Amino acid sequence: MKLVTYLHSGAEHVGVLGGHAVRPLPCLDMNALIESGDLAGMAARAGEEIPLEEVALLAPIPRPRQDVLCLGMNYKAHLEEAAGYDAGAFAKERRVAVYFSKRVSEAVPPEGFIQSHRGLVERLDYEAELAVVLGRTARNVKAAEAGDYIFGYTIVNDVSARDVQTDHKQWYFGKSLDGFTPMGPCIVTADEIAFPPALAISARVNGETRQEANTALLINSIGEVLEELTAGMTLLPGTIIATGTPAGVGMGFDPPRFLRHGDVVECEIEGIGVLRNTVD
Ligand code: MG
Repeated sequence: MKLVTYLHSGAEHVGVLGGHAVRPLPCLDMNALIESGDLAGMAARAGEEIPLEEVALLAPIPRPRQDVLCLGMNYKAHLEEAAGYDAGAFAKERRVAVYFSKRVSEAVPPEGFIQSHRGLVERLDYEAELAVVLGRTARNVKAAEAGDYIFGYTIVNDVSARDVQTDHKQWYFGKSLDGFTPMGPCIVTADEIAFPPALAISARVNGETRQEANTALLINSIGEVLEELTAGMTLLPGTIIATGTPAGVGMGFDPPRFLRHGDVVECEIEGIGVLRNTVD
């Protein structure tokens, strides 16, 4: 099932996407739907179809309840390009997962604007990522059963201010600016994607392919990450985990190719769709 959050007649709704229409679900928002644990029951009570042309898609979880958990340098080729850009900031000697988080007061909708923060940010970059949305409270999860905890999958563009990111000891500020988390276009429920996901992932800037990989290439797999984190952290339903980006980000080029006003960034993952945003 493809689930979306959308505006219709000025009000926000959650619905099931099918063909060129959405069917509204009887729930307050996506977090409430996830927490209900009753997607099947909600879907059985879906309303009448509304043509897609009559709605405006929002990010599937427009206001995450907690910061997005992120994996850094979780594809080998990206680890190498990042270390080539700034070894002090990005080189890593051991295979341990790099965790950081990202404040998302409001996720950027599909077709929405990435904020460029002129005057504050000079090195604006994109990162296409598979994001996992948890459906159950997760504590002491074993990697082999991690799939049971996943509600679904979406796409996140982990927009990054490289200058702010590397100026500070921690990445939090440079990852968390307003308008830095495009998300969507939908959540595909976990039953539709075999676990662990092995999906083609790519990013294009103004139509030119920059990133092209497969989510099967994660260094630290979703199962390993859930087992490791939940050994000491309780993760709540609705938690979003961005699993890291492949090679081909702007800082990976020589010379680097950072984003500029008017650039169109498309992040695509097989089976989920295309997340398309323009730099303001
Ligand atoms: Mg990232």
